[in-house]
Amino acid sequence: YLINSEGDRFMKNYAPSRMELAPRDITSRAISYEIRAGRGVHPDGSAGGPCVYLDLRHMGKEKIMSRVPFCWEEAHRLVGVDAVTQPMPIRPTNHYCMGGIPVNTDGRVRSSGDNLVEGFFAAGETACVSVHGANRLGSNSLLECIVYGKRTGAAIAQYVQNRKLPSVNEEHYIQAAQQEIQALIKQPGKYRINQIRQAFQDCMTECCAVFRTEEVMQEGWQKITELQQQYPQIYLDDKGTCWNTELVEALELRSLMVVGQTILASALNRQESRGAHFREDYPQRDDPNFLQHTMAYYSPAGIDIQYRPVVINMFEPKERKY
Ligand SMILES: Cc1cc2nc3c(=O)[nH]c(=O)nc-3n(C[C@H](O)[C@H](O)[C@H](O)COP(=O)(O)OP(=O)(O)OC[C@H]3O[C@@H](n4cnc5c(N)ncnc54)[C@H](O)[C@@H]3O)c2cc1C
Repeated sequence: YLINSEGDRFMKNYAPSRMELAPRDITSRAISYEIRAGRGVHPDGSAGGPCVYLDLRHMGKEKIMSRVPFCWEEAHRLVGVDAVTQPMPIRPTNHYCMGGIPVNTDGRVRSSGDNLVEGFFAAGETACVSVHGANRLGSNSLLECIVYGKRTGAAIAQYVQNRKLPSVNEEHYIQAAQQEIQALIKQPGKYRINQIRQAFQDCMTECCAVFRTEEVMQEGWQKITELQQQYPQIYLDDKGTCWNTELVEALELRSLMVVGQTILASALNRQESRGAHFREDYPQRDDPNFLQHTMAYYSPAGIDIQYRPVVINMFEPKERKY
């Protein structure tokens, strides 16, 4: 059960027919509304905090330990709560990226429309086959592995048969990468990577999470632009050239900020609410204008947003009611 600070099982007010088993975007919003209305709890149990309770006590010890042992373990490890006898403080967090590198059902990357990029495949959460729409349902990311991972692997094996590697000037790319890495390791810099990474993560959580508005997302855009300007002045504590995880983090951070900007640009352009993309300034779904896939193309000059029609076959989109 999900319980607020008043002991109320609040999902009855948001999805009475499905209660806690409503889709996760609806549940996340319901939790966030309760927290915003001051009915959240602090981890010490006092009211007005940033969490609500997930209460498993009615299940009893045997069922908790056999059906959801990982829930018990996490609550115990992170906040010292015994879920058999106490409710667990929880709150929504980002745990999947819907969308990604556009691919067909064989994992081949699309360039635009129905064109494919030669020799480029993607599978897993990074790819977007488009099975999840705007709201991935519980456990469906397994599909990425057991269905599309398998199909993509088989397609790659087939693709490389009797193909020769294209001739490229490897030396040119290796030198450019080496110079970039050396410069990153040596530069004196002003900012620790953690500082910028934490600020970026906080910015995405505050400006582009459960509730989105034009104003807040524009603030987020501005903030990420500032962080990107700080990035060239980062410094690494680890100057080693072997197993340097800080270097990997530095390179990853640069890409993360591009992904964050792409998500913001796509969300700003989509002036409607659909699945997990919920805009308080455009709370309704708008099929005439936005029953379309966003196609975001990044270049250092900016992010170009285009749209691709959704192919509808067996299931007509309908309003969700629970
Ligand atoms: C809290 C949480 C709960 C979840 N619960 C569920 C659930 O109940 N059911 C479900 O189906 N799904 C769930 N998911 C989603 C699911 O776990 C992920 O979608 C899935 O693990 C993604 O697997 P992946 O192999 O595609 O990507 P990842 O596991 O992210 O692997 C990508 C790897 O690539 C590496 N990498 C990144 N950049 C580079 C680079 N430039 N060069 C080389 N390597 C690189 C990374 O270090 C990483 O090891 C959950 C996710 C989270 C966070």
